[in-house]
Amino acid sequence: MTTFETNSRLELRDRATGLTQRYKGRDAEDILGSIVGNEFAGRIGLVSSFGTDSAVLLHMISRIDPFVPVIFLDTLKHFPETLAYRDDLVARLGLCNIQTITPRPASVQADDPDGTLHQRNPDLCCHVRKTLPMLAALRPLACWITGRKRGQAATRSDMQLFETQDRWIKVNPLIDWSADDVAGYMQAHDLPEHPLKGQGFLSVGCAPCTRAVAPGEDARAGRWADSEKTECGIHFENGKMVRTGS
Ligand code: SF4
Repeated sequence: MTTFETNSRLELRDRATGLTQRYKGRDAEDILGSIVGNEFAGRIGLVSSFGTDSAVLLHMISRIDPFVPVIFLDTLKHFPETLAYRDDLVARLGLCNIQTITPRPASVQADDPDGTLHQRNPDLCCHVRKTLPMLAALRPLACWITGRKRGQAATRSDMQLFETQDRWIKVNPLIDWSADDVAGYMQAHDLPEHPLKGQGFLSVGCAPCTRAVAPGEDARAGRWADSEKTECGIHFENGKMVRTGS
């Protein structure tokens, strides 16, 4: 990394720290309204999985500015219920700028020609089907919004309201929200549940890598349940968690 790049990264981190200090303790919709309308106007997008909690941020964005880009990473491995839920929410909320991003066919052909890479090397599968397409989709933006929360898993306990990743600022407006907060918001605004939630899927990713959770388990315990993998890689610098050849 050049000195210029190092300094740019440091400046970005300082900016994220300053934003965290400025917005800490403020209401999620208030934070979003301010950064969508001012701080990152025209250069911000929401990355949404259209999972069990996604309706909250999608609803907030629809009220603030329905033209904000909403990026959905269609890995081509999603449950049909997730795709139907996406279509339902988009229509219901009047979201005007949905960007459904798919993996490059050449990458899939090269790394996952028979569609079973998730069994042999899930990190590489996520890299090809999620991280690379997402990095391309984020190119025009300076900031992206995530739905991550501290309480979802031990691996997320040290996250901050504003963070950096590569050349982007990331904002986690629901960082301190609990499952009850999400349920309360969805009820108050009459938002539909993900169709699989009632079957015990408290966190929904790709079909081959998600199972329902038992009562008392972490919401994300059903993701990559038979491996040590806990994150897909889109939240790592340069997708650095990728391990090839395993
Ligand atoms: S979650 Fe599973 S199927 Fe989806 S991209 Fe990652 S490894 Fe592949």
